[in-house]
Amino acid sequence: PQYARRKGNPRLFFMGLRKSGKSSVQKVVFQKMSPADTLFLEPTTRIETDSLQSFVTIETAEMPTQLSATLPTWDHHAIFSNVGAVIWVLDIQDEYLSSIASLIETAVLLVTHHPRITFEVFIHKTDGLSEEYKHDTFREVRQRVQDELSDLGHGDRSVSYYQTSIFDHSIFEAMSKVVQKLLPQLPAMETLLNKLCSTCRIQKAYLFDTGSKIYVATDASPTFLKDYEVCSDYVDVVADIKQIYGWQGHGRARAGGEEASAVGESMVTYDQSGDTYVYLREIDDHLSLLCVMGKGSSVDKRMLIDYNVGILQQALLQVFKV
Ligand code: GDP
Repeated sequence: PQYARRKGNPRLFFMGLRKSGKSSVQKVVFQKMSPADTLFLEPTTRIETDSLQSFVTIETAEMPTQLSATLPTWDHHAIFSNVGAVIWVLDIQDEYLSSIASLIETAVLLVTHHPRITFEVFIHKTDGLSEEYKHDTFREVRQRVQDELSDLGHGDRSVSYYQTSIFDHSIFEAMSKVVQKLLPQLPAMETLLNKLCSTCRIQKAYLFDTGSKIYVATDASPTFLKDYEVCSDYVDVVADIKQIYGWQGHGRARAGGEEASAVGESMVTYDQSGDTYVYLREIDDHLSLLCVMGKGSSVDKRMLIDYNVGILQQALLQVFKV
């Protein structure tokens, strides 16, 4: 409740052909459904909406596939007026030329009437494909879309592309990047994380939405999928353990000094070498700070880290205050 429920909440609108994976993506990322259980999802027949109550409310909706956004009878103003991002899900294991055709129609409609909406293309179901095939089809789809948009005079329309699969971390990483673009607090969060990293010589810092494993911000250093994977698995483990045992012995007064509830903090080695660590600290009920720290970081100076993370926590809570 300490978070503002504003009109500016991220709203995601999923589109794409039948069976491309729109429902699966939402269920896996936002409702923690196991990927294997998506096999028998019912087809979506009307516009369905859903929301994830977290540090901000993320709202999602899905376009039923028998409808096209470009039908003349379709009131696209009513649909798109509140949408922040349109995510086009394109099944790369299927014949995708017809999907590209509708994708282009939709992109043109958006750029003409709703230029504010970001347009994201998930080149989806990349699991089980060879690296080479994945790479080639990714390039081909991107090239085709870019060419067609240029031909139609919209070459400057920016479209982002992601390779995704619900069977690995790629879908969470893509979703993180999509959501981040819609957060007005992003620059503030990034500045705070950059400061923390340079002060404590931290290799990489992520701010995670604990429940969904989406990261809502990271520092400016290069991002590696491996870091993200290790951190997000760790968030999962800690969340599970917390649910069973709770936090003990690390009780700390919560920001604002209301009831003293335990704030979780924990650390493990990153890999077998034992030189690198992953540090987790809960910022509040929804957000967790994850840091990857290697040799030369302040890993042995826990006081310094604790102090700086404490400051970061206060600042973040300010950023999200109503
Ligand atoms: P929708 O009609 O676009 O909502 O598609 P669904 O979400 O119902 O998914 C259609 C089928 O694709 C289901 O059987 C899913 O299990 C499958 N599917 C979804 N995502 C993936 C993925 O990343 N990889 C693979 N191999 N199959 C997927």
